[in-house]
Amino acid sequence: MYHDWLALLGDNLKPSKTRVIIIGQGFAGLNAAKTLLHSSAYKNALEILIFDKRNYHLFQPLLYQVATAALSPAEITTPIRFIFRDHEQVQIFLSEVLAIDADQQMITTTVGEYSYDYLILAAGAEIGYFGKEEWKSFAPGLKTLPLSLEIRRQILLAYEEAEMRPPHTPPTFVVVGGGPTGVEMAGAIAEISRFTLQKEFRKFKPQATKVLLVEAGERLLPSFSKRSSKRAQLDLENLCVEVLLGKKVSAIDGNNTLQLQSTIASTASTIICASVIIWSAGVRACKLTEKIKSQHAIKLDRSYRIPVQEDLSVANYPKLFAIGDLANSKGLPGIAPVALQQGKWCAKNILCDLAGKARLPFTYFDKGQLATVGRRRAVMEYRGFQSAGVVAWLIWIFVHIYYLMGMQNRFLVLMKWAWAYVNFKRSSRLIIEHGSTRR
Ligand SMILES: Cc1cc2nc3c(=O)[nH]c(=O)nc-3n(C[C@H](O)[C@H](O)[C@H](O)COP(=O)(O)OP(=O)(O)OC[C@H]3O[C@@H](n4cnc5c(N)ncnc54)[C@H](O)[C@@H]3O)c2cc1C
Repeated sequence: MYHDWLALLGDNLKPSKTRVIIIGQGFAGLNAAKTLLHSSAYKNALEILIFDKRNYHLFQPLLYQVATAALSPAEITTPIRFIFRDHEQVQIFLSEVLAIDADQQMITTTVGEYSYDYLILAAGAEIGYFGKEEWKSFAPGLKTLPLSLEIRRQILLAYEEAEMRPPHTPPTFVVVGGGPTGVEMAGAIAEISRFTLQKEFRKFKPQATKVLLVEAGERLLPSFSKRSSKRAQLDLENLCVEVLLGKKVSAIDGNNTLQLQSTIASTASTIICASVIIWSAGVRACKLTEKIKSQHAIKLDRSYRIPVQEDLSVANYPKLFAIGDLANSKGLPGIAPVALQQGKWCAKNILCDLAGKARLPFTYFDKGQLATVGRRRAVMEYRGFQSAGVVAWLIWIFVHIYYLMGMQNRFLVLMKWAWAYVNFKRSSRLIIEHGSTRR
């Protein structure tokens, strides 16, 4: 009731300003809002309403560092209200958007309905299980802070269980998906086992922990060159990670048993008993893309992404922009630079409208790609230039520090990495839950 009243009041008070609603404060939504606010000519003609179901901007590329106890949650997040504290034209709603009516230019949220002049849809993606939603509870994926804390809990608890329960077998971790996140995760777990926990258990040797990385394709890091893929695989194998290529997960059950099927030969399936399974095999656009009501059918792609036009708006709806991981713009990948650049670009196109100028087609500036395997191990590619090892690793550190929001976060993360570099310690090794079972 209170929410309805708030919503009514919100719309009755709607001034003559142009109302831009932004859904999501990831890289895409955040950069759209910042660009609108940087326009000295029009920022006061705008009313910006931000909706996000969480109250912080999350730096997803470092989630695996939280999951592997190297960083704590606050170091990779920034409160949204803090970011916009000096901008009175911005209103922030900690609220989930439930549906969009593209014809009426309205959104339905958990705190009421709101109309818009422009809508920037930037609600990102979620973990995809290829239709096997039941695997979600057996194999958490790395996408949100609660999920990365759950993975951390399961990893740390697996070591404790090996110590407590005969026959004291070292844990087996299975990471599914050999893209950058899977490679980073497998490398980090291997380092924890081999270096961080080396002296901390009495009944088993953490160095004997098994780390398996399962990939359905014929090589790791498919978006990189074959040379970089090979190098990442070698680096992982040097850390004693077992890389299983050409293997697809065909079943997972509640006892952490995985069935793997060969994607290359018609051999019998392999069964693996895991202590923890981590899913990094796929993403799909968030469910909101399926909740758009419109008289012109919006045909989503295979990953439920919204196809967008050159100016990043949705066909037949020039006031509706879709950007970042939930948009399909010429097949560009779901990575941070794409989301960030699209956020800026769609905001500029709204400013073009206000200035009576023609909109510009989005052009992507390719900033290359990076993936780290562990300490002093990374691969990097930039417009034909390739690097691996220490140089790529240092560039990886620099890029991640540079894009992390907030000076305090940057300083803390840099200090923690420097400290971990010297002594391999991971300071955020907390199992935040009582009980002795993993789930
Ligand atoms: C583990 C991991 C590692 C990654 N590593 C890299 C990397 O090294 N390099 C790289 O370039 N990219 C990396 N990426 C990809 C990159 O993080 C994404 O491409 C980027 O975050 C997409 O930005 P976005 O703004 O589209 O979505 P997101 O950052 O996902 O933001 C979406 C926002 O929308 C909000 N939201 C969602 N649904 C709703 C709703 N219904 N109502 C209200 N709010 C909603 C969410 O709370 C969130 O704040 C990684 C991703 C992951 C998960």
